[in-house]
Amino acid sequence: MIGIFGGTFDPIHFGHLRSALDVKQALGLDEIRMIPAFQPPHRIQPTANPGQRLTMLRAAVGDEPDLQIDNREMLREGESFMVDSLTSLRNELGDEPLCLIVGADAFLKLDEWYHWQEIPELAHIVVTHRPGWHLDMNTASPALQTLWRTRQETDSTQLTGSPAGRIILQAVTPLDISSTQIRAMVATGESPRYLLPDAVWNLIRMHGLYGFLPIDNSTSLAKKAAIKTRLANNKTLRVNTGTDI
Ligand code: ATP
Repeated sequence: MIGIFGGTFDPIHFGHLRSALDVKQALGLDEIRMIPAFQPPHRIQPTANPGQRLTMLRAAVGDEPDLQIDNREMLREGESFMVDSLTSLRNELGDEPLCLIVGADAFLKLDEWYHWQEIPELAHIVVTHRPGWHLDMNTASPALQTLWRTRQETDSTQLTGSPAGRIILQAVTPLDISSTQIRAMVATGESPRYLLPDAVWNLIRMHGLYGFLPIDNSTSLAKKAAIKTRLANNKTLRVNTGTDI
């Protein structure tokens, strides 16, 4: 049984890495495929370019044997639809059970994904807890409520019995970390250290990603506040976006 962990990873952080490993261990998966999106269709576009995000992901995973990087969305280019990735994985892996791992925030928007109704036909869905997101299915769309009601599974051992089709809720180490928070910290001169691997933080500094500037203590609070306001208005700082690291 193989886990699929898709994301923008802009940048990869310990919330991604720890939940991937937690799910692998809890469900006894053979491996986890980390699939970085080339161009995520459901959200604002990433700040770092695809090559930079892939390089950071490689640095984060290092030689961890339980996590594999699968760059099929990078090679495919264009909009990265998970249904296309799962279809190609299914073609390669035959009847191997696949588990698509999504945080509660992502699951509550699943019905906005391209051809989303095909996804449970291609993989099981493992929904992980994420701090700040309460999975209240009463507030989900009627279509998602139906999906949940008809496919919810509480016994994880049942997942191995079929290649796809069930949905399970899986607790993971609660780490209240997001890429948005890290980008904002970097841009305002705060250190995001210990929220993400040092190797990733080093790449961010080395290549001036996310508006990294070595802001010293003399940088005025007014200037920091102005940067924060700019970020809040979604005018994200874009640096080095044209080249790979
Ligand atoms: P951004 O803040 O830019 O939206 P993000 O931190 O949410 O980014 P993504 O790359 O968009 O990260 O997320 C990929 C997947 O990882 C999603 O399924 C998301 O729910 C999950 N995820 C992200 N952060 C965490 C976390 N701290 N704990 C558990 N799951 C997480």
